[in-house]
Amino acid sequence: MTITIDKDFLEKQKKLLEARKAQLMRELKMDGVKNLHGDNEFDAIFPDFGEKEDENAAEVAAYEGNLSMEKNLEVSLFNVNKALKKIDEGKYGVCEKCGNMIEPERLRAFPSATACMDCKKKFS
Ligand SMILES: [Zn+2]
Repeated sequence: MTITIDKDFLEKQKKLLEARKAQLMRELKMDGVKNLHGDNEFDAIFPDFGEKEDENAAEVAAYEGNLSMEKNLEVSLFNVNKALKKIDEGKYGVCEKCGNMIEPERLRAFPSATACMDCKKKFS
């Protein structure tokens, strides 16, 4: 199947994705997350509040918060990077489930979408 997608549209989506990526990187570099190696690997920080039992409990709670924040950001970043790669490969906007084009309105609202509306409904 040949994919015809408007070049201007692609450019706009690319800008949206790059802005989103920059924002995610900023969020990932905030407190609670450390940069491991490279630009795309992060880990949650295990804080050190002290040695007392209640301090240890607080450390675990804070770590769990960091961990879920880090995971969410990392998944978003992964999807944004994947969408950018697809633009480069000329595969952007194709539904990963059925191979049809994803609705442009959906892509505008959610530039890193990987499935069309129908599939999204079916699979989630
Ligand atoms: Zn689909």
